[in-house]
Amino acid sequence: MTEISNLITKSVADNFIPRILKEFIELTNSKQMDKETFINLVRVKYSYENQILQYFNKCEKTKITSIEATVDKFGIELCAFIIFNISLMEKLNSNSMRDCFIQMFEKGIFTAVASYYIAKQANLRSPWKAYLAGLYSNISYFFLYMYYTDDLEHIMSIEMNSISRMNYEWEKFGMTHSDISWLILGKTGIPEDIRGPVKNHHLKRSQVSCDNENIKEICASVYLGSMLTTVFYENFSLAIEFKNEIQEHLNIEVTELDNLISTILYEFKIKLNLLDVYDFTIPGYFSIIEIFQDKLSTVENELEKISSELNKEKKQRLKFQKVLESYNKKLVGIAIKDPLTGIYNRRYLTERLNDEFIKAKKYNSSFVVITGDIDHFKNINDTYGHGYGDEVLVKIVELMQSTIRKADLLARVGGEEFVILCNQSNDYDGILIAEKVRKTIEKTTFTYDRNTIVPVTMSFGVANFSKNISSVQELLELSDNRLYLAKKNGRNRVVYSDSTNEALM
Ligand code: GH3
Ligand code: MG
Ligand code: MG
Repeated sequence: MTEISNLITKSVADNFIPRILKEFIELTNSKQMDKETFINLVRVKYSYENQILQYFNKCEKTKITSIEATVDKFGIELCAFIIFNISLMEKLNSNSMRDCFIQMFEKGIFTAVASYYIAKQANLRSPWKAYLAGLYSNISYFFLYMYYTDDLEHIMSIEMNSISRMNYEWEKFGMTHSDISWLILGKTGIPEDIRGPVKNHHLKRSQVSCDNENIKEICASVYLGSMLTTVFYENFSLAIEFKNEIQEHLNIEVTELDNLISTILYEFKIKLNLLDVYDFTIPGYFSIIEIFQDKLSTVENELEKISSELNKEKKQRLKFQKVLESYNKKLVGIAIKDPLTGIYNRRYLTERLNDEFIKAKKYNSSFVVITGDIDHFKNINDTYGHGYGDEVLVKIVELMQSTIRKADLLARVGGEEFVILCNQSNDYDGILIAEKVRKTIEKTTFTYDRNTIVPVTMSFGVANFSKNISSVQELLELSDNRLYLAKKNGRNRVVYSDSTNEALM
């Protein structure tokens, strides 16, 4: 520590601080810097007129021929900044620091511009002080380059973050680069409102020990300015932290913050480019943002592609699912339904009959089976063809279906044979239903070719479940036998008992 403090004499410090800088600060502090005073300082005292004209004429289409015109056009502050940059560059050049200064100088200007615009946004009275503090915050690295070259190289090679760098500095020098910069500025008499922010440029506002609120405010701006430099040059992952801190400090919306950062970058780029020191090498913002946006749009594109593929797949899956469902339904339908008439087949009827049988046994309930057969159907087929026979079958099913009750089940059990299952019904219900159906068919006029009337009738056998019936088969046989009796007794009738050969009506 003492070693460094001893090394930093006034003459060493003067290697880094241009005289015009100190004088500018003194003049500005003692009175309002007016145009005349400034021009006098720049042109008469320090002969910077040519350089400043050269600088501005690089960016201006219309040629500026005098320092007066420059100040009128750009204002004292901006002209002063250019002089700060030029004079610092000269100092560093004269100390043959070309190797070292490229990035350092670039970062210094970046920090200066950032600190200045942040200070402006924070409505500080003298934002130019933040500019100067930013510009000089890392001046110590030039000093280290001269006196501790190896250590500086090592510091620069520590990639991680500014904290690990500062730890090394602590170990090595007993102070950080911020303290060294502060010492250098002190030796040349730079006042505390610029030195202070230099000393504290890596400290949060709450960590700064200083009684002067104005200085603390400048410190806060320079701290955020330095942080932005770190974000762009070293550690982009600090961006979120920076965003939160600056938003809190300045109390601004995201859009305002975007504008602020855009201004900083724009001004920085202009200042650096126009200095003509080198092709500036910032890897930062523009490329980072571009890369970021590139990546983002790639990711977005990928996401869009994937989601559209997913959607396609989902749609396809739904389509397949629907097709499958409809096939399944069809399959089930095929398995239990008669394709010609669409009513249930024998298989399904048998299952239902078994269920009813078990239920009736268990609950001592009753159900009825009606077996029906079209009379002389063979004749119909033979006379009018099989196609017409089919039409008759379909029509008969329609008639039967519309005559029976909703709860009754109609099934086709053979070519022209049908069974009606009437659950929760007794003998009497069964007879009535069978008779109703028989009558409906009898009353319906079947025509062939519109003109020919085709007589169509049906015969029925009715059997009621009773305790003495031991199986579904037995019940079906019983109703079949009664159907046979109906046929035998002249057809177009309902037989409901074995003892009688008479139809009900
Ligand atoms: P019965 O009054 O004694 O019942 O005389 P029937 O002619 O109706 O009886 P039979 O059993 O002799 O003839 C039944 C006919 O039904 C024979 C067959 O060709 C016809 N058939 C069976 N299934 C179909 C079908 O799906 N479509 C048509 N068109 N005819 C069928
Ligand atoms: Mg028949
Ligand atoms: Mg038959």
